[in-house]
Amino acid sequence: MKAVVVYEHGGIEKLIYDEIPDPEVRANDVLVQVKACAMNHLDVWVRKGLPHLKIKYPHVLGSDISGIVAKVGKDVRGIEIGTHVLVSPGLTCGRCVYCLSGRDNLCREYAILGENTPGGCSEYFSVPKENILPMPKNVSFEEGASIPLVFLTAWHMLVTRAEIKPGEVVLVQAAGSGVGSAAIQIAKLFGATVITTAGTDEKVEKAKSLLGADYGINYKTQDFLSELRKITQKRGVDIIIDHTGEVNWEKNILSLTMGGRMVVCGSTSGYEGKTDIRQVFFRRLSILGSTMGSKSDLFEVIKHVESRRLKPVVYKILPMSQAQEGHRLMENRDVFGKIVLVPS
Ligand SMILES: [Zn+2]
Repeated sequence: MKAVVVYEHGGIEKLIYDEIPDPEVRANDVLVQVKACAMNHLDVWVRKGLPHLKIKYPHVLGSDISGIVAKVGKDVRGIEIGTHVLVSPGLTCGRCVYCLSGRDNLCREYAILGENTPGGCSEYFSVPKENILPMPKNVSFEEGASIPLVFLTAWHMLVTRAEIKPGEVVLVQAAGSGVGSAAIQIAKLFGATVITTAGTDEKVEKAKSLLGADYGINYKTQDFLSELRKITQKRGVDIIIDHTGEVNWEKNILSLTMGGRMVVCGSTSGYEGKTDIRQVFFRRLSILGSTMGSKSDLFEVIKHVESRRLKPVVYKILPMSQAQEGHRLMENRDVFGKIVLVPS
């Protein structure tokens, strides 16, 4: 079968759409004929290489998969061939205290498809049956593939970690990113007032008109902290959703109101944020880390997608043979929402 693979780490030229052996279908596995695979910033990190990453080559990229069940392993019951499905992007052991208490994202064996293990940017993908989710009825395969990783991440950050409440004020950094576009919608779903940032006026406008953000700040032409203070009349925000890391860290802390919570799921600009510790204890702030979410979070997300309260944001659909172009767009931040690859 054809797949987007890397044989070694480096620039976008290291991405190759190549012929590799068909996946093995073990007794507990479901074989999915892949119809769409959405890209994440994680794919860029994996392509470039991460210090902790130990993988076998050729390594297939891709964490977000939608498709049709093509075959099931001999121990799989209740999943019919031909069913339209999404794939949950986290693999876990299924037997530890975390897995069995619904906090499977804390499992010591937690692995993300396409990062620690082979991904699904390929014609076929084999995955344990526990990772098979129903496809929301009213979305295309491309929209479906745009849901799992970013909505799971944003849901877990806002609902589980920050415990968002109606009426709170939420700052979502980087509206054009996948997590940003999901977080704005989830915060609105919970009745929050949303302030967001983006690097162009066009993205600011889309965040408001497409996603429902109440206020947008162009961080290239405006200082987000002073704008945010104007908007909130110096009060600050209750919750910050951030994956930008170093570049906004100090100002993020100053943006929080008393008792505010900042949830961080990445550090795309660098990982050495400076913290004035006095701000943290005087103002009773919480800094919360978050990575992915539990499998059950996605059932909640799918419910809201089906009732159209949340919508996947597809920016561009490309054939898998043009994966290099997809990575180029992501690295240049020329996106608003998801880039989706389809078998070509
Ligand atoms: Zn476990």
